[in-house]
Amino acid sequence: MRLKDEIAFITGSARGIGREIAEAFAKEGALVIISDIKAEDCQVTADEFKAKGYKADIMACNVTSSADVDQAVDKIMEKHGRIDILVNNAGITRDNLFLRMKEEDWDAVIAVNLKGTFNACKAVSKVMLKARKGNIISIASVIGVMGNAGQANYAASKAGVIALTKSLAREFASRNITVNAVAPGYIKTAMTDKLSDEVKGKILENVPLGRMGLPSDVANVCLFLASKDADYVTGQTLLVDGGMIMY
Ligand code: NDP
Repeated sequence: MRLKDEIAFITGSARGIGREIAEAFAKEGALVIISDIKAEDCQVTADEFKAKGYKADIMACNVTSSADVDQAVDKIMEKHGRIDILVNNAGITRDNLFLRMKEEDWDAVIAVNLKGTFNACKAVSKVMLKARKGNIISIASVIGVMGNAGQANYAASKAGVIALTKSLAREFASRNITVNAVAPGYIKTAMTDKLSDEVKGKILENVPLGRMGLPSDVANVCLFLASKDADYVTGQTLLVDGGMIMY
């Protein structure tokens, strides 16, 4: 058991990649706090986990609200007394070509992806700094590294997450807190299932491993970063993209 009795708070974990990360952690003995914007979605996922014998609790919160996130962290602390691992996974897209991109679509994506990560890091790092221990993992994207036509808001938000990760890694290193990012490429999820076969084919031309990633590919790398195996890794962005970007 690589995460036995660790307490992991994972935002946006009722479904998709976040759920997969939570399940990977729970299988390795962590108590996972399923957090998402809708409490009922958190409950469904937590009940499914408990039915499989995993340890799970729920804490709904909207990551765009610092008050909401602070309250969620306070409640987790009251109930469980620790947060060992934070995964900033909640994220949205509002794609459009730049000239057609509405200010509200820019603001919405920055609010969830970047400000949401800031809010959760701020609330949880207070706890981790006191404990002198912790792992923070933020889900970025290859788009934050290479940019993408039609995704200026998303690319900027994820590049921001990568820069935030490096800065916090430097600030928190002396307190034994590691801070890393994981940048998935094209992962088979509800978000990418919507793409046409033609678009998918074009994307795969740029993936040396020749297939889309699976949520479990991302979850396995998060598990590594959350485990003792990665104790000497901080400030890094690990690309989980089948080799799309090599540097
Ligand atoms: P999903 O949309 O499947 O899951 C994201 C979850 O976050 C949803 O449950 C969503 O709830 C929740 N969420 C949205 N807004 C908020 C909020 N304000 N507060 C709390 N929770 C919120 O996305 P994926 O699983 O595909 O993506 C997960 C992460 O991985 C994201 O950060 C994404 O940017 C990143 N990523 C995904 C890739 C992919 O190919 N899928 C590629 C690269 C990166 P609800 O559905 O109710 O809105």
